[in-house]
Amino acid sequence: MNNQLKPLCFSCGSRRYVVLENVAQTPGTVAGGTAGAVSGYIGAESGSVAGAAIGATMLPVVGGPAGVIIGGLAGALAGLVTGAAVGNRVGKHIDETLVRRYRCKQCGNVIEV
Ligand SMILES: [Zn+2]
Repeated sequence: MNNQLKPLCFSCGSRRYVVLENVAQTPGTVAGGTAGAVSGYIGAESGSVAGAAIGATMLPVVGGPAGVIIGGLAGALAGLVTGAAVGNRVGKHIDETLVRRYRCKQCGNVIEV
């Protein structure tokens, strides 16, 4: 966090309590996580196959279908984590470079840069 980039609160005359607002970061995280989960689930074919193989070895009776489900879920989960991390970073970047809206935690002032 580069404090030099923070604006002064016009009410307090200080930038001590001024923080960047998460305008795009939270939706970015959600959108990234959703997109990642979907693409992870769709792209989990190899994961499903691996899961099915492992499941079939460990649980010969129910292994196949369970393995496919577990593989798909693992793929979706991995995609969710990765997508959320990417979305979070992209959203933070948008907040820092495009939105640049700050809020003073001391007095609640919103400062648009
Ligand atoms: Zn203030």
